Amino acid sequence: AKHAGGNRCELADPEADARAITRHGLTTALPVALERGEFFIEYQPLVHLGDGSVRGAEALVRWLHPQHGVIGPDRFIPLAEHTGLIVPLGRWVLEESVRQARTWQARHADAGPLRVNVNLSPCQLTHPGLVSDTVEILERTGLAPGALCLEVTESALIGADDDLLKPLRHLAEMGVDIALDDFGTGYSNLANLRRLPVSVLKLDRAFTQGMQHYPVDPVDLKIVEGIVSLAHSLDLAVTVEGVETGAQADQLRELGCDTAQGWYYARPGPPDRLHELALADVL
Ligand code: C2E
Ligand code: CA
Ligand code: CA
Ligand code: CA
Repeated sequence: AKHAGGNRCELADPEADARAITRHGLTTALPVALERGEFFIEYQPLVHLGDGSVRGAEALVRWLHPQHGVIGPDRFIPLAEHTGLIVPLGRWVLEESVRQARTWQARHADAGPLRVNVNLSPCQLTHPGLVSDTVEILERTGLAPGALCLEVTESALIGADDDLLKPLRHLAEMGVDIALDDFGTGYSNLANLRRLPVSVLKLDRAFTQGMQHYPVDPVDLKIVEGIVSLAHSLDLAVTVEGVETGAQADQLRELGCDTAQGWYYARPGPPDRLHELALADVL
């Protein structure tokens, strides 16, 4: 009976237990999934706020699990980071996205070069192969470095020392854009921006969400206005994410933001869909 009691105790939170089993199951399945080619990438357009043209897309990875169906990155990226699989997985995402951008450019030569944004995990930043892998992938595919933007979260760079910034600096000097992702969510040291080799600020969805209800809090507007003007004075472009309505797009355009991304324009989708949207010229 005591043993049974012990067992019951472990099962006291069956949901947590199921989660733990799933997490364990997913973790052990990850390396096999990479070998079997179960990951795929969806692309979400990046739209120029001034003229509504599609300028490129952010690559967002998904896992088509044979039993669980499509699993979003929020559920498996942390596991991949924990096990170190993020390095080969991230390299695969980079190669696949760069190859895809090259294909768009070949099919869409007349309408300005489409660019691709790829997310980098902090673990990839500290991996010694980052620069050589990126150079090798760009050379092999023939994509111009200026058509690639690597997104790094603000939190990954907080307190970053020169050793951490060196590979990013190297890539920036080659012409690769570096974007500071989820900007404004963490503890933003605005003065620190000057020191970082970034050329794009991606304003977090939280700012856009604050503009969902009217009238928009004038203090919120002032904050975004301030960030945009600071960014521009440092020669950084501003991209906003999570734009869900036309009213938000109008407001963000008025505030001087350069590029937008969100469901209002398009959900993440297959690569051919991006090609169609880019051909439509204006969203
Ligand atoms: P993120 O980099 O901030 O990507 C933006 C997320 O917002 C995406 O979620 C996107 O689908 C979602 N989103 C886009 N527009 C809207 C909108 O209008 N409204 C709302 N509510 N959401 C919108 P997703 O695809 O689930 O990706 C989640 C996170 O997973 C990403 O956040 C990124 O941090 C990470 N991630 C995705 N792909 C990769 C990857 O290849 N490598 C790494 N290291 N992380 C990745
Ligand atoms: Ca991102
Ligand atoms: Ca983001
Ligand atoms: Ca985010």
